[in-house]
Amino acid sequence: MIEKMIPDYYYKTIYDIPFDKLYEEGIRLILTDLDNTLISYQEELPNKELFELKNKLNKMGFEFILVSNSKKNRVDKFASNYQIPYVKFSLKPLKRGIKKAINKIASKKYNNNEIVLLGDQLMTDVFGAKRCNICAILIEAIDKSTDIGPTQFNRKLERFFIKRIKKKYPKLYQERLMEYDTKKV
Ligand SMILES: [Mg+2]
Repeated sequence: MIEKMIPDYYYKTIYDIPFDKLYEEGIRLILTDLDNTLISYQEELPNKELFELKNKLNKMGFEFILVSNSKKNRVDKFASNYQIPYVKFSLKPLKRGIKKAINKIASKKYNNNEIVLLGDQLMTDVFGAKRCNICAILIEAIDKSTDIGPTQFNRKLERFFIKRIKKKYPKLYQERLMEYDTKKV
């Protein structure tokens, strides 16, 4: 099971992700987490950089869908402002919400190797993506101090699993998790 918690890539922020490289690799559908991935828990609306990013991705030919575990109104508010299709209360790492985005919300049929999920959590985003057999990109949370209760719990679990990954897959740990792990507050 711990294999499914190893991301395919790690980047510090969404702005550090080499989207041109992903495109070359055949990725066409980008699923993204909301909280602490696009905005912190304290923010409500997308900023200028996020709008620029979305325009860039659309121009490059990516489809971009929000998949959030939150069931709060802030998801609807953010998504309508950002004009992005979305799934809320997605229950990652369960497959249901991710599959809904892929099969019901996406404008066309994509193969698994054309899809990536971006997020700041191992237990929900990475694990959920790998359970659906799609590419997982882990990024550093925008502001961990704003994490809410369930996420704080997940961070503790995450630390336990990272230790096991480090022991069993030292090379993969070094390549994809070490930087993330050592930035923990
Ligand atoms: Mg998050």
